[in-house]
Formats: sequence, C-alpha cells, structure tokens
Amino acid sequence: MRTALIAGNWKMHTTVSEALTLVDGVLGRITLSDDREVLVCPPFTALHAVGERLRGSGLMLGAQDVHHEAKGAYTGAIAPGMLRDVGCRYVIVGHSERRQIFGEDDAAINRKVRAVLAAGMRPILCVGETITQREAGDAASVVVGQVRAGLADIATTDALVIAYEPVWAIGTGVTATPSDAQQMHAAIRAVLAEWGTAGDAARIRLLYGGSVKPDTIDELMACPDVDGALVGGASLQPEGFARIVQYR
Ligand code: PEP
Repeated sequence: MRTALIAGNWKMHTTVSEALTLVDGVLGRITLSDDREVLVCPPFTALHAVGERLRGSGLMLGAQDVHHEAKGAYTGAIAPGMLRDVGCRYVIVGHSERRQIFGEDDAAINRKVRAVLAAGMRPILCVGETITQREAGDAASVVVGQVRAGLADIATTDALVIAYEPVWAIGTGVTATPSDAQQMHAAIRAVLAEWGTAGDAARIRLLYGGSVKPDTIDELMACPDVDGALVGGASLQPEGFARIVQYR
C-alpha cells in the first residue's frame, strides 16, 4: 500500500559535470518499477542540469534544504518556489547536519516543512538521536519529540515522508540493526496515528537512513515499517546506489 522510496542525498559533493556523470551512471544501471520511487538530491548548483537530464526518466529530483520564506531579502537562501521551478518534487528538511552544524531547531524545521507543503512538494523530515541520547535510554523520546515538533500545527497529509536517521549511524559505517530500525519506525508511526488517524499513519512513508549499503538494504527493507532509505555516501557510487535501488 506504500510505494517505497529510495533517496540519494549527495550532500556537498559534485560539480555540475560530476553530477551529470553520476546521474548518467545511475540511469544506466537501474530499471524503474511501479513499487518504488527513486530520488536524487544534488547540491543546489546542479539541480537544474540534473533536472533536465532526468526529464522523462521516471527518476525524481529533490533538494537538500530550503528557506521557509517565499521570497525577499534573505541573502544566500533558496525559496521553495525556486526548487519547484527546477523540477524538485521532494525537499530534505531537518537533516542532522543542518541541526548540528547550522543550528536549526525544531521551530525552524517546522517552518520549512510547512513551506515545502505549501509549495506543493513533499518534505522528507529527518529525525534521529545522538549516541549520547541513545546510551541514556532517551532515543525514542528524542525522536518522538522531533516528529511532534516538526509537524506542529500542520494538517495531516500523506505528502509527508519521515526519515529516521540515528546520528551515530550517519557516515560512520555503522547501520542500525533492522530490529532497532523497525522498533523506532513503529514508534514514529504510532505518533503519526495521533497526528491523524491510524489509516493516515499507514499511508505515510518512513525511510531509514544511516550508512545504508548494498549489503544492508535487503534486510532493512524487509522490516514492515521501513518504506525506503535515505542514502548518503553510497548514493555517490552509481553501482552501489543502483544495487540499493534494486533491493530484494
Ligand atoms: C545521510 O546523510 O542522510 C546519510 C544517511 O548518510 P550516510 O548514508 O552516508 O550515512
């Protein structure tokens, strides 16, 4: 009932020509099927060129961040309408690197989620606990709190995607076990059932992110509440990303 979503977050990598080489490498290796969507999120500077290359391919374009205002004197910022204009369908919001390095708090992230929805795109709201929080036994309460805060005063919609990305698993080579991922995804879905109804919650896709690799994707995707993956490092290698997209 939920279409899987495999999303590549290229972070601050690739010039325009490198981005085109990468996307060509992915396109040449995958066959899209109805049961899954595939998304790439290049840096802002490569969005237009990659979007043009993806035209008609079925592979989708997304952005890694956005500003919440529609226009104005916000030097250096990119508005939702600008992303929509170059063909973005999804926007990653509240990635842990945005939270930790750029100081984004839950209120700022909530404004971005609203802005993405208002512009007719789908937000991928990222949540996840640090290792300190996990070791203190606070993982579930931190993640549940981030979900609630991210969705505050927003009407229920299945345009929303949530990515559970434990901070200790991002870029470290350590993947959460399928059972840890499933447990947290079930907790997130329970919060979504309070946000809307159980039926609404059942339609919202929950991605796992954190060192997903070709050899870990199959067991993660076998978890009932894991509906896809947000992939960082491995999305920069066409062969590995293609294998992740072709999970079994
Ligand atoms: C990410 O940045 O969203 C991510 C999951 O990175 P990695 O796959 O490299 O851990």
